[in-house]
Amino acid sequence: MIRNKNKLTKILTVSLMITMGASPMVNPYAEVIYAPGTSVNAGPGVSGGSGAETDWSKVAQGAMVIDQSIPEGTVNFTAMEVPDPIVKVPDMYTYDFMVHDIEELRKAYPEHMTVRSIGQSHDGREIYEVMIGNRNARNHVLIPAAIHGREYITTNLVMKQIEYALCYYDTGGWDGKRISDMFEETCLHFVPMADPDGVSISQFGLEGIRSEELKKGIEECYANDVAAGRTSDTFENYLKRWKANARGVNLNQNFNANWETGKGSATAPSYSYYGGPYPESENETKALASLFKCRSYKAVINYHSMGEVIYWDLDGNKVREKSRFLANNVSALTGYTLLYSGEGAGFKDYVQLFGTGTPAVTVEVGKGTAPVPSSQMSEIWAENKFVWLYAMKYAAEGYYQY
Ligand SMILES: [Zn+2]
Repeated sequence: MIRNKNKLTKILTVSLMITMGASPMVNPYAEVIYAPGTSVNAGPGVSGGSGAETDWSKVAQGAMVIDQSIPEGTVNFTAMEVPDPIVKVPDMYTYDFMVHDIEELRKAYPEHMTVRSIGQSHDGREIYEVMIGNRNARNHVLIPAAIHGREYITTNLVMKQIEYALCYYDTGGWDGKRISDMFEETCLHFVPMADPDGVSISQFGLEGIRSEELKKGIEECYANDVAAGRTSDTFENYLKRWKANARGVNLNQNFNANWETGKGSATAPSYSYYGGPYPESENETKALASLFKCRSYKAVINYHSMGEVIYWDLDGNKVREKSRFLANNVSALTGYTLLYSGEGAGFKDYVQLFGTGTPAVTVEVGKGTAPVPSSQMSEIWAENKFVWLYAMKYAAEGYYQY
């Protein structure tokens, strides 16, 4: 049955390509292969029950097939929300909120969650890794968020995912399996706030930073960025748009992956455009790179904001087909558009160029400009509620050729 479906999907894809002809594209990898709102395979919670006919023509290319049944004695939690949640959606989800919520979640679900610090930011904040599931599992999935300061809505999003996963760990069923069995097989590793200093600057301005030396450096960034024409904002608004770490390095342009081309246009610290003096010069970059190197992951999902797009490729990508497949599935779920990202020096690029076969995608949530207001959370939540579930299914089943 699966074979027939694959063949049909392939035929439909090929005929679609023929219909489209050789229209010029901005870049060779950009493609939109899923029209939001048309997939019947849009994810868990879709009614139909086991054995329902699926209209394969409406399934995104390479989409995984979700078994709509759940094991006896489990609840179909996908239509549910966590009752009386610990993780709220305030106007600004701060570092302190995160620390508080991690502690409360650990108390509420001590058996299913482990927390550790993977390093310290330059202003002395811990960078936390939250693990859910069997730490000795066969499969591991890494989900970092807020590697850019002003993108703190992604911290709130993954913290909600963490609580949701923990809440239904023991009782939930999905894709014909018990969630607890899925967590025996696959461990999720979240890094909810990879750039805690940058988040604090974006939320509280200079008051968000404790070190006098770092504060002075941030003022110099403003002078440099004004002089170079990179901003015309007031200092206050400029700080709200802060994307870098407290030393004015854009962490997602600081990884050792095509760093020369990806390091950004500024030659000195900036709120956004400086990739650092050399690759992995920053504490936060090193922390994430070491976390990645310490084990083999089946998938990496990087949360950024905004744009409702998914970056999944770059030149020299060693895991192109696997990344495309992963991106297709996240796209089918979220309705976000697939895009090519060419420059390098980001964490996704690092994983795709120097990992050991781990596919990676960058998922940009929200619309407008960053920081994305918390009023968008209900929409972002609806789109991303199940991404961790899909990632676990992907980790267990792997990439299959269409
Ligand atoms: Zn970003």
